[in-house]
Amino acid sequence: MSMGQKKALIFELSKPGRCAIDLPVSDVPAVEADTLIPAGFLRQEPAKLPEVSQPDLMRHYTGLAGRNFGVDSGFYPLGSCTMKYNPKINEDVSRLPGLAQIHPLQDSETVQGALEMLYNMEQYLAEIAGMDAVTMQPVAGAHGELTGLKLIRAFHRHRGQNRTKVIVPDSAHGTNPATATVCGLDIVEIKSHADGAVDLEALRAAVGADTAALMLTNPSTLGLFEKNIEEIAKIVHDAGGLLYYDGANANAIMGITRPGDMGFDVVHFNLHKTFSTPHGGGGPGSGPIGVKKELIPFLPVPVIVKEHDAYRWEEDRPLSIGKVHSFYGNFGVIVRAYAYIRAMGPDGLQAASQDAVLNANYCLHRLKDAFHAPFDRFCMHECILTSKLQKDQGVRTLDIAKRLLDYGYHPPTIYFPLIVEEAMMIEPTETESKETLDGFIAAMRLIAAEAAQDAALVTGAPRTTVVGRLDEATAARKPVVKWQG
Ligand SMILES: *Cc1c(COP(=O)(O)O)cnc(C)c1O
Repeated sequence: MSMGQKKALIFELSKPGRCAIDLPVSDVPAVEADTLIPAGFLRQEPAKLPEVSQPDLMRHYTGLAGRNFGVDSGFYPLGSCTMKYNPKINEDVSRLPGLAQIHPLQDSETVQGALEMLYNMEQYLAEIAGMDAVTMQPVAGAHGELTGLKLIRAFHRHRGQNRTKVIVPDSAHGTNPATATVCGLDIVEIKSHADGAVDLEALRAAVGADTAALMLTNPSTLGLFEKNIEEIAKIVHDAGGLLYYDGANANAIMGITRPGDMGFDVVHFNLHKTFSTPHGGGGPGSGPIGVKKELIPFLPVPVIVKEHDAYRWEEDRPLSIGKVHSFYGNFGVIVRAYAYIRAMGPDGLQAASQDAVLNANYCLHRLKDAFHAPFDRFCMHECILTSKLQKDQGVRTLDIAKRLLDYGYHPPTIYFPLIVEEAMMIEPTETESKETLDGFIAAMRLIAAEAAQDAALVTGAPRTTVVGRLDEATAARKPVVKWQG
């Protein structure tokens, strides 16, 4: 098998005197650098930059880009991330000059269309969530969680209650306990049942006069719908706590069920997962939150209001928690999501969720004899398998993930959720065809057969990629991010 050809670094291609561009001599008088920058800060020697011709430059970076793997190049079943294909038209819409070239400090009379879009977007998300109001300000899922917990804390404090505990099931997404800690609240972790559901007895024992909230991911990170949801909501509300819904996985429930109807008081969405914004590499994202009416007075400012068919910002909200982001969040991301929701319509969003759930169940059903399925029941938008059946051959989940690279697939999320040993979390999303799923399933089954017959094929993978197994721990802890020459 061929290892990918080693690629020279741009510095190694450098030849003194070569240049990628040829600019005419400037007819503007030069300004000496030290009149602009204090001499002590000036470089003593010229920067060591690579010197290459334009074709060499172009081919170098185009070649590197071709080695990248993205959802535009192949199947990307990364669980808990919703790596779905996003229609390119939404990119075009977000770049329309009337939207892309306005300024957040413009007089609101000159940007009524943009405000109307933001206002409508809040209404749509409120409808999808079953909530009374929405703020578009938070710019990530975790940021929505933080904003939501600040609202909950402000709500309790306003009522003279010092509630400091947040209950988090062990199946929650890692951001839940992290944001509660950042918010200065204490975590009470409760265990899940063997069937993946929240243990109601453990919940009853955990709630009390100090309970600020329960944070629940539903469907949970096990890809399972929380079947006792109404009972859970009642237990927490009876104790005076509020319910926070991690709705990052809304891809499973749009148009089918609503967090508000389940009894939740706050929910966040990830527009960069469910609503057509490409993600990865750290953003930009958008994590709007929806709230029930008792939390409206505490929402971040400014709040958009509609009066006589005109829109304006309202700043004067004495109980507001203040701002959580500059201006009004990531506008361009919201535009993409708006275009997506308008194009899909209510039926389209519901169909997307139905297809996402169908695709995950199809993968689970077709793979559960080749790999161990710890929860062999109907799943939501993602399913979990493990490498337990391959253990005796010395094949671990990491090996299976690496072998998938040889077959041209991005691996699923692995070793998450933490409470399942050797987990593989597969989220096919609704945008994949049956043929694509069948191809992935065939590759997975082939890997299971290889593990049984010739395990070295799997444990030695990947063989066809540019680099083999990386020392991932060292790469993360001691990254070398600049040219050392
Ligand atoms: C992705 C995700 C988050 C965090 O969202 P970010 O935008 O990455 O901060 C939170 N909860 C769940 C269940 C998620 O899948």
